[in-house]
Amino acid sequence: MSVSRRQFLGHCLSAGALALTGCAASTEVHRQRWYLFGTLVDVTVVHPDAPRVADVLGRLSTRFGDLHRNLHAWKPGVLMDVNRALAREQGIAIDTGLQALIADLKDCHRASLGAFNPAQGKLIGLWGFHGDALPTGAPPSVRQIEQLLADNPSPLDLHVAGGVLTSRNAQVQLDLGGYGKGYALDLGMQLLRDAGMGNAVINAGGDLNVAGRNGRAAWRIGIRDPRGAGALAWLETSGDEAIYTSGNYQRYLEYEGKRYAHILDPRNGMPVQDIVSATVIHRNGARADAAATALTVAGRRRWRAVAETLGVAQVMVINDAGHIEMTPAMAERVSLSAAARTRRIVV
Ligand code: AMP
Ligand code: MG
Repeated sequence: MSVSRRQFLGHCLSAGALALTGCAASTEVHRQRWYLFGTLVDVTVVHPDAPRVADVLGRLSTRFGDLHRNLHAWKPGVLMDVNRALAREQGIAIDTGLQALIADLKDCHRASLGAFNPAQGKLIGLWGFHGDALPTGAPPSVRQIEQLLADNPSPLDLHVAGGVLTSRNAQVQLDLGGYGKGYALDLGMQLLRDAGMGNAVINAGGDLNVAGRNGRAAWRIGIRDPRGAGALAWLETSGDEAIYTSGNYQRYLEYEGKRYAHILDPRNGMPVQDIVSATVIHRNGARADAAATALTVAGRRRWRAVAETLGVAQVMVINDAGHIEMTPAMAERVSLSAAARTRRIVV
């Protein structure tokens, strides 16, 4: 895997959920791995007909390849065309899929009380996160950051009429780093389901969509300890679910011994600090992805309020003191590891 392919949508390999333990008969379990969306994508399908699975996985690979290209923030594709047009104050025709995506971005932005802002691509670029390698050098100056904040780019600036997208704010640049993986995995899982393969897991570097069952058993998922190698907690999935984690430790700029995370608070343009990781379980991957990013921004004081407005009930947060904070709905379904039980736990 070349370094230039490592980063897409701003993610890295060490995201939140891990390990699945097997139960279905091994002849029925099919696995495929691709390098997409800046990470390894592992697909597991339980199905008796191997040739059919191979055919469907071929179609899934093509679909994911298209999504990878078209949602990329800094490589040629549909999103780059859109951003170029918006910067020139021109309209651009977009398909119904992208129209629905933009409507959902607005919804996530509103519901997150502004914490999720996929229109701040310029700010993310300013911090150096629009590149395959991690940024180096000094962080941007306060003046540079304040200039971009003054433009107040928001997905609510976007407008679609007659299939043509326009923006009333030429400073809007879309960056789907906090959303695109969930969106893509939802579509991928839909493709599998439509092909009659409703027992599957798509795991993109620890962010995953799960459907159906693993033979006679449920899928078993671990939530990774951001400080260590193992799992902090385990859970069994029920039906179709998505489990997404964001964290201040995943991608960052390191300068003079300080780390600046790749998730930026739209209120002050600064990297998030006080939440190490936020894990969200929801039926919809795009919403879980957006929510995990937004809750990291919302921080220790506001994450519960923002989870509520976003409509995500199952959340686990590890804060910068190492404490595990959970919603009651999350606490009900996870089994904590012995090491996790020694930490302060707040439900
Ligand atoms: P995630 O790992 O899903 O939290 O996504 C992080 C990526 O989302 C970053 O690398 C940026 O591309 C983008 N991003 C950063 N800050 C925000 C934010 N406040 N709202 C939406 N997307 C963001
Ligand atoms: Mg996200």
